[in-house]
Amino acid sequence: MNKCSLCESNNNELLYTNSRGNKYLENYVCDNCGFIYTFPRISNEEIGNLYLEGGFSKEARKSHEPDLNKFIQTESWALERLHLLEQKLPTFFLNTKTCLEIGCGTGSFLWLLKSRGHLVKGIEPDSQFVNVAIKRYDIDVETVLFDNFSDSQLYDFICNFHVIEHVLDPREFVKNIYQRLKNNGCILIECPTIDDIYTNDLNTFFWDVHVNTFSNKSLPWLLESEGFTVNEIFMNRGFVCIIASKGVEKRFESDSKERVLEIVKKFKVSQNKNNINKSVFGKIKSRLKLILLKLKEF
Ligand SMILES: [Zn+2]
Repeated sequence: MNKCSLCESNNNELLYTNSRGNKYLENYVCDNCGFIYTFPRISNEEIGNLYLEGGFSKEARKSHEPDLNKFIQTESWALERLHLLEQKLPTFFLNTKTCLEIGCGTGSFLWLLKSRGHLVKGIEPDSQFVNVAIKRYDIDVETVLFDNFSDSQLYDFICNFHVIEHVLDPREFVKNIYQRLKNNGCILIECPTIDDIYTNDLNTFFWDVHVNTFSNKSLPWLLESEGFTVNEIFMNRGFVCIIASKGVEKRFESDSKERVLEIVKKFKVSQNKNNINKSVFGKIKSRLKLILLKLKEF
């Protein structure tokens, strides 16, 4: 059934039907809470195949196995993220913390945390990435999906970058994080947001592996509804980042369908304007070239 996985409402509106790779994909917006999600959703089995068998890495990460260029990229992103985190939480990381990263990819962020003296653990479904991460950084990474992670340890810090938009049940995902976090711990989540269409094109922003599309309202609202208090919400490279801890203070209401429709409508208008400008500019450029060529002939 086409049901919102955040509020369970069955009422929705079809928002967009194209996606990356020019694939037909139905994204709906929930009438009740404004959450954006794909339907039909892929099955648990398909999720397992996609992430455990390396299909996702091949398509999205552009490599079965990370090479040096990939590490250079992930290490610079990791450094940027760590600097941001240390700015936002100047005292939290002063003493040794136990850290868990869900979907740690190449492990670059955990390696930086480890270099600061923290105890790190990563989980990552793609075994090829796990092997290379262990080899390069000598960190503890397990090949497993978060749903099947059986560790009973509690952590001071749990983070995930670009994972929550992929999971079939984001509410369960957040509950699972809550249960594994110490009472005075904190979390960091980063993912795409409809509030900043990072590809600058709706046809590539929507993507079949992103079964959820969060906003700067729906993500904090979800976290607060599962027992978190949002300490910081900020943007990094076009993505929304949230730092949260366990607490009862609530500041966010759910998103609304009307707001989401308005964002998409405004974006389409500006995209059309850009396309028109590009074509007008293109015509002027080719005319100028012709004139220059003719002038040269004289
Ligand atoms: Zn909903």
